[in-house]
Amino acid sequence: DVLCIGDLDVDMFISVPEIPGFDQKVSGRNRGQMPGGMSANCAVAVARLGLNSRLLAAVGRDASGAFAVGKIRGEGVDVDHLVYRDDADTFMCVVMLSPSGEKSLIKLETDAYLPRPGEVTADAFEGVRHLHLTYGQPELARVALSMAAERGISTSLDLEPPDIVRNPHLLRSILPMVDTLFLNREALGKAESALGEALVPAHLRQNGEIIVTLGAGGCRRLATGSVEEVPGFEVRTVDTTGAGDCFAGAYLAARLTGVEPVDAMTRANAAAALATLEVGSQTGMPDRAAVEAFMQE
Ligand code: ADP
Repeated sequence: DVLCIGDLDVDMFISVPEIPGFDQKVSGRNRGQMPGGMSANCAVAVARLGLNSRLLAAVGRDASGAFAVGKIRGEGVDVDHLVYRDDADTFMCVVMLSPSGEKSLIKLETDAYLPRPGEVTADAFEGVRHLHLTYGQPELARVALSMAAERGISTSLDLEPPDIVRNPHLLRSILPMVDTLFLNREALGKAESALGEALVPAHLRQNGEIIVTLGAGGCRRLATGSVEEVPGFEVRTVDTTGAGDCFAGAYLAARLTGVEPVDAMTRANAAAALATLEVGSQTGMPDRAAVEAFMQE
């Protein structure tokens, strides 16, 4: 049902007493390595919620790549279209978690960070109803979105602040191919400075929607002529890494099974809140029964 194109990585989680500042040394505790990457996380969220999910990402031919692919395959995600790079390490991310729930990330991007535009092949779209991708490499986004448009497939894009800062001028040309735009508050600010004006649904494809995630506050949806906000769920958050990806996957899974936007936002808030209860981007992601049970509480 859903094709996710973007990144797959291995996240190394380290608990620290406080996030170290300049010239500061802290002792950390290794909380383990787990697969991550925005696209891989979204693909896992979709699969856990019971839809068919395919991931097109690049991976190095190394031990951490094999580990991540094994885990993702174990989640039922179709990994047959992954691109293997013999000469590159798998993309890694170091995540520092403070006791108060703050986090800092270091991305160790490699040549296996993202697929190249030419590696997005037509057969990856077979049986696909929806394309989800990240702005990480705008040319990749442009090619993938064009292929989706040719096939009449709906699309979504996740905007991360650093990606916008890296490629501010290309954003305007990508947005008209997007149906659903996901971004957090920081990304919204960056996108609006890149565009030089307020981000509105008119920047997207016709009938497009903008979903702004508000952390513990929940989310807001902007569509033509409407703004809706749905509060988040109060939980004992341990690690918010991947919350936004789980949110996107859960929102898409709901919409693709006929759920109306506001109910889909509630379900996505519930799924993402549950995902923050455990260390690891994918670890705490719920299945459909867990989301239903949590919403009944
Ligand atoms: P990102 O992780 O991309 O920065 P947000 O922090 O906005 O995005 O979180 C995405 C979604 O995850 C939110 O819209 C909310 O549904 C859920 N979420 C995030 N943090 C919390 C939290 N502390 N408590 C409950 N839900 C949360």
